[in-house]
Amino acid sequence: MKKLNSIAVFCGSSEGNDLAILKDAQLLGRHLANEHITLVYGGSKIGIMGAVAKAVLDNSGKVIGVIPEFLKLKEVVHLGLDELITTESMHERKLKMHELAEGFIAMPGGLGTLEELFEILTWSQLGLHKKPIGLLNSNHFYDGLVDLLEHMALKGFVRFEDLELLIVHSDIEILLSRMLEYKPSVGPSWLKKNRT
Ligand code: AMP
Repeated sequence: MKKLNSIAVFCGSSEGNDLAILKDAQLLGRHLANEHITLVYGGSKIGIMGAVAKAVLDNSGKVIGVIPEFLKLKEVVHLGLDELITTESMHERKLKMHELAEGFIAMPGGLGTLEELFEILTWSQLGLHKKPIGLLNSNHFYDGLVDLLEHMALKGFVRFEDLELLIVHSDIEILLSRMLEYKPSVGPSWLKKNRT
């Protein structure tokens, strides 16, 4: 089976208030380290972002942070990473993360997380990349979003085949294995909601 060497994780700069999500962040970090998958992320020490990075580092994994200069203070830049890339803008940050990653995972987060997820999803829709994109539906966090996407397709604003660009699961190992199996633009089932 082929392997993903690096994954960019988009997730909250806040910790939120659901311990199950924080636990998933730690699990994901540990899993990436164990699988020798480099974590590419926003370079912050705080929130779910910081929790994923800490878990990778605690398990001897590799972490690359990408952060714009102006956010270093606000988002508390992590100075203990294997590599820290400073960018001039948010756009440059996203482009760099995209360049460095062979796949993407969005965990629970806020507006920034959604923006990052949807930009990478629309780049895939436009054929600008063919990398797998996973949505880790920790503790049902994204059920409403999955429902909205289905609704958008049913109403004719999103093509059903484009929904297949997003791989949704609540289990980290299953999500990663589906990302490995991902073949762009084929597959019988479009968007699978996992509510377990
Ligand atoms: P949030 O999900 O709002 O906690 O933000 C998660 C990460 O997304 C943080 O590192 C933010 O700096 C980043 N972010 C916020 N807005 C944007 C944006 N417009 N483009 C890219 N990243 C963003």
